[in-house]
Amino acid sequence: MSGAIERIAVVTGDITRLAVDAIVNAANESLLGGGGVDGAIHRAAGPKLLDECREIGGCPTGEARITGGYELAARYVIHTVGPVWHGGTADESRLLGACYSDALRLAKQNAIETIAFPAISTGVYGYPIEAATVVAVRSVAAWLVANEAPRAVTFCCFSARDSAVYQRVLGAFNPRTRARVP
Ligand code: ADP
Repeated sequence: MSGAIERIAVVTGDITRLAVDAIVNAANESLLGGGGVDGAIHRAAGPKLLDECREIGGCPTGEARITGGYELAARYVIHTVGPVWHGGTADESRLLGACYSDALRLAKQNAIETIAFPAISTGVYGYPIEAATVVAVRSVAAWLVANEAPRAVTFCCFSARDSAVYQRVLGAFNPRTRARVP
């Protein structure tokens, strides 16, 4: 497990600028674009991304779909639909964890070695950053323990404040016991 944590990095910045094999999009169920990171990815990738998304025809919450990256540095975009936060009693943590693992499943299937995630659901969808980060780290670490691919995962935060939360959660994550961060 400690090896898994070493394959995770945290950066602050715009995910559309990262030169990784795949970036993950926090999309909505229509896959037809939106605000936040979704809008930024579509703007940077160009209109062909929307054409390919239209052909897919949508994606349920907690699942992921893969497309090309077009004008992005990344070769692929993996679109996943995070849950809207309803206070924590609407299966949000399971659905958010499933977003990370389904995206990683697609990454492995497509021989993707390096992948970057935004903080899914923590913008317009309202998932509290601390709770979302625990789910993200736990889900990604569990995948990396069991799988050699992808080789490296980057959490790309849009603010230094969010990065600090990720750093703290990663640091407190106890690999041996899989203890939850307080
Ligand atoms: P959701 O609807 O899943 O909440 P948002 O796009 O509203 O999606 O927000 C998800 C996260 O992405 C938020 O933490 C937001 O600050 C962040 N974000 C917005 N734009 C970018 C970007 N260009 N690069 C990385 N993260 C971004």
